[in-house]
Amino acid sequence: MPELPEVELVARALHALVTNRRIVAAELLRERLAPSHTPGDFAALLRDATVTHVARRGKHILLHLDNARVLIAHLRMSGRFQLLPLETALPKFTHAIFYLDDERRLVFSDQRHFGMMKIVNAADLHTTKELKDLAPEPFSPEFTPAHLASVLARSRRTLKETLLNQTRVTGLGNIYAAEAMHIARVNPFQIAAEFGTRRVARLHRAILDVLEESVAHGSTLNVDPENIDGNYYGGGYEGRWRVYDREDEPCGFCETPIKRIAHAGRSTYFCPRCQKR
Ligand SMILES: [Zn+2]
Repeated sequence: MPELPEVELVARALHALVTNRRIVAAELLRERLAPSHTPGDFAALLRDATVTHVARRGKHILLHLDNARVLIAHLRMSGRFQLLPLETALPKFTHAIFYLDDERRLVFSDQRHFGMMKIVNAADLHTTKELKDLAPEPFSPEFTPAHLASVLARSRRTLKETLLNQTRVTGLGNIYAAEAMHIARVNPFQIAAEFGTRRVARLHRAILDVLEESVAHGSTLNVDPENIDGNYYGGGYEGRWRVYDREDEPCGFCETPIKRIAHAGRSTYFCPRCQKR
């Protein structure tokens, strides 16, 4: 499932590929992709709009349009954009098509059917349901060690659950939360409010480091316009994970085998020695 770095890379790729392109027509093939709109409204709201820039908020991709609207897209598990020539066959599970003024189609397909799209007025963007409760962006000036400390101090849940809650900390999912907690050598299962200033500062630094490093890695990869997927354009980051999906492999710090525990319904990977507390 794409987390902040992957969504950031998809947004950057779309920005490079479709900025200044006009949407000649749009087609919503699977109504539940955009439950706030009928296919007719969806098409009418996008017709003849030009993409002015593409950005990101949390794990949402924001296509800003010159008609004072924004198309919000969430990839969820398997959503994928592809920029295809008209003659190329549509992928299986195509849920929306945007016909562009350069004889290409921007296609959104989604094998798992969890993706989401919504068109809002630009003026209402940050008060719309999907975005209004999101925590500050990790790369924003608001995300300071003191901010993270206050967020954790107010949480009665475990550190891991708190980090995954997008209204507390935005952009981390199961992978980067595990990586950051390992680098910071903090215990995922400890109650968030129990962390003192020193450990919070270490965690804050680790969160920024893992996110920066993975975005930097993805930025070196070539974008395939015909497969702008949420997995580093197929370039793969998996080989760089320290704990995620590394059960029984040696910890990079102490060589203790990495453990996996199912917690709050998902796997948590950690070093039982470095992350004891
Ligand atoms: Zn270790």
